[in-house]
Amino acid sequence: MFKLEDRVALVTGGSRGIGKAVSILLAGLGACVVVNYSSSGEAAEGVVEEINARGGKAIALGGDVSKAAEAAVLVENTMNNYGRLDILVNNAGITRDNLIMRMKDEEWQRVIDINLTGAFNCTKAAVRPMMRQRSGRIINISSVVGIRGNAGQANYSASKAGIIGLTKAVAKEVGSRNITVNAVAPGYIQTDMTEVLSDGVKDEMVKRIVLGRPGKPEDVAWLVAFLASDLSSYITGQIIGVDGGIVM
Ligand code: NAP
Repeated sequence: MFKLEDRVALVTGGSRGIGKAVSILLAGLGACVVVNYSSSGEAAEGVVEEINARGGKAIALGGDVSKAAEAAVLVENTMNNYGRLDILVNNAGITRDNLIMRMKDEEWQRVIDINLTGAFNCTKAAVRPMMRQRSGRIINISSVVGIRGNAGQANYSASKAGIIGLTKAVAKEVGSRNITVNAVAPGYIQTDMTEVLSDGVKDEMVKRIVLGRPGKPEDVAWLVAFLASDLSSYITGQIIGVDGGIVM
């Protein structure tokens, strides 16, 4: 088992789903975790309570990652609370599905603003302290649809494909400072985001999964924890699937 003792992690969108599982696991491995949320403050406090009850350290910090100033304050408050930032998990994300001919400008823009610009904002703010520390781990949550596209998700697929380009470009910029940047590409994971899909859509997705079942948030969290640890120190600029074999 690897340890993350003395590490400080900022998990965007840590209040629910994959971000919640990541927050709990990183804290369980010894990291001090900042659980970010935009509107689910109560849920985020619940995650913090769960971590504290298990003997871990965490705080909840609100902030909309799509706003550069709020992302900067989030990183600043992380530094003020814990004195350093070792791990940034760009997890916050939304969907606003629609066919391209019907997609409203706001549906396109909001998804790009949160999923892609949010990761840019937080990365930009986090890279400075990481550069000073001469170490860091940035883990971006992309998606299988960023690799292969999906009908009805032009906005979401574009944002997740953008995350892949962002990951590789930043990895090349900061590698010399001992900062690694990788992306995780989950498939169908059971969270609030996928709960709203119809049974028909869910059944169709499961049919395409080699392992024949959806994933759990914890399946993604374990890869994030590995990428956050010393064991992954020679891995950077990679896009790694956690998808039950849906993409190969
Ligand atoms: P989820 O259960 O809907 O949770 C989304 C999280 O993002 C919530 O904590 C939410 O917090 C936060 N969030 C939304 N907008 C935000 C903003 N502007 N600023 C800060 N936080 C914000 O979704 P999930 O399924 O866990 O997804 C997590 C990530 O994995 C997303 O990037 C998603 O695209 C990706 N992913 C998911 C799947 C899947 O099958 N579930 C597959 C591939 C990739 P609030 O409630 O406070 O807004």
